[in-house]
Amino acid sequence: MNTIEDLIEYDKNHIWHPYTSTTNPLPVYPVERAEGCTIHLADGRQLIDGMSSWWAAVHGYNHPALNKAAEDQLKQMSHIMFGGLTHEPAVSLAEKLVNLTPEPLQKVFFCDSGSVAVEVAMKMAMQYWSSKGEETKRKFATVRCGYHGDTWNAMSVCDPETGMHHIFKGSLPVHYFADQPQGRFHEAWGEDDIESMKTIIETHHDELAAVILEPIVQGAGGMWFYSPDYLKRLRELCDQYDVLLIADEIATGFGRTGKLFACEHAGISPDIMCLGKAITGGYMSFAAALATDQVADTISNGYPGVFMHGPTFMGNPLACAVANASIDLLLSSNWQEKVTAIEKQLVEELAPCQDLPNVKEVRCLGAIGVVEVNEPVDMGIIQKQFVEKGVWVRPFGKNVYLMPPFIITKEELTKLCTAVCEVLKSEVRSPKY
Ligand SMILES: *Cc1c(COP(=O)(O)O)cnc(C)c1O
Repeated sequence: MNTIEDLIEYDKNHIWHPYTSTTNPLPVYPVERAEGCTIHLADGRQLIDGMSSWWAAVHGYNHPALNKAAEDQLKQMSHIMFGGLTHEPAVSLAEKLVNLTPEPLQKVFFCDSGSVAVEVAMKMAMQYWSSKGEETKRKFATVRCGYHGDTWNAMSVCDPETGMHHIFKGSLPVHYFADQPQGRFHEAWGEDDIESMKTIIETHHDELAAVILEPIVQGAGGMWFYSPDYLKRLRELCDQYDVLLIADEIATGFGRTGKLFACEHAGISPDIMCLGKAITGGYMSFAAALATDQVADTISNGYPGVFMHGPTFMGNPLACAVANASIDLLLSSNWQEKVTAIEKQLVEELAPCQDLPNVKEVRCLGAIGVVEVNEPVDMGIIQKQFVEKGVWVRPFGKNVYLMPPFIITKEELTKLCTAVCEVLKSEVRSPKY
C-alpha cells in the first residue's frame, strides 16, 4: 500500500462504506489525521469539520484530555469481560449518567453502539410487560421520519418510507406509525398535532409495549425540530394508557440541542433513555440504555429473573474511561454558552440561503443548522464542491446540515456557513434543478 492512489483503489475494490454500492462506489477521501476542528486529508488538503463525525466529536479531534484518558486506561487494561467483573471506569460512568439524566433513571445498561442501545431498550420494554404477565403488549408506536439505527428492531421503528421497510418486508416486525409532529420548536402548539399518536395509543394500548421516539430533534430521518409540548402531552398519554416511553437521545444527548438532554426542553422523564454518539466524545463506539427502577426491578422480578442481554464488549473499560473524560470536559467547559453562540451564528450566517430558489427552509436549534432544499442533492457533485471549498459537510437527501464540534471558532464556523451558501447558490445552475 504505497501511494494514496493504491489506498483509494483497494478501498474501492474491497470495502463497504455506510450505505454504499460495491459496483458503483462514490469517491472517498483518505484522512491522515484530525485535530481540533480540522480534518487533514492524506493529499495535504485541510477541511473544517461541519459534521462532528455524525454528532459524536463534540470536543473536536485528538483532544489531549481524551487522549490521556485512553492512554492511562490502556496501561491498566483495554478490555475485561463484564460478566462477574466490574471496574472503576464503568462505575464512575454509571454514576455520572445517573446523576445527569432525569432522576427516575437509575439503572444503566452499557452497550456497543447506538443501534444496540435501541435494541436493548426495546427488549427491556418487552420484558417489562411480559414480567407483569401482559403477554399481548408486544408492539411499538413511533412517529414518522424517525431514525433509530440499522439493526433489526431499530430498523422496524425507522421511518417506513425513507427507512428500509419495503426491502425487508415480511421479516421485519410491523409497528404503529403516527404522523410526524408538525408543531415547531419555537412556536405555539396545538393539541391536534398529537391526534394521530393519541388515536394509536387509545386504540392499541393493549398491544403497545412502548412509544419510542427521538425527543425534540429528529436526526437522520429528516433533521426536524418539534415542539416540547408534543413530548409533554405524549408523556401524559403514555402514563394514562400504561405504555412505556423510550427517548432515543443518541443524537441529541450531551448538549447538542442546547440542553444536556433534549427531554429537558419538555421537563419530562422517559422510562428508558438511549445514549450514544457523543458519549465518548467521538472516540469510539459506545452507548448506554438507562431505565427507571420500576422498569428494571419489574423485569428482574419476573421470568426468567434477569434481563436477557449481555454483549461481549459490554462496559468496555477503554470506552468508559474516555466517556468519563469527555463528560468531565463537557461539564467543566462553558458548553451551554458555546452552543448558544453557535446557534446564533448559524441563524445569522445560514439566513442568506433562505432566498435561494432551490431552498425550502433554513432551521437551526442548538449546534445544529439545517438547510432543506427542494430536491435531493447529488452527493457525488456536492461532496466534491464542499471539499474544494475546504470544508467537510455531508448532506443527506434534501438536507444540507451543519453540526460542528462545540469548540469551533467563529472564523471556522463562518467558513462552513459561507461554503454551504455558496455551494447551494451554484447548485441553481446545475441541470439537476
Ligand atoms: C445514530 C443514531 C442511532 C444509531 O446509532 P449507531 O451508533 O449508528 O448504531 C440511533 N438513534 C439515533 C437517534 C441516532 O441518531
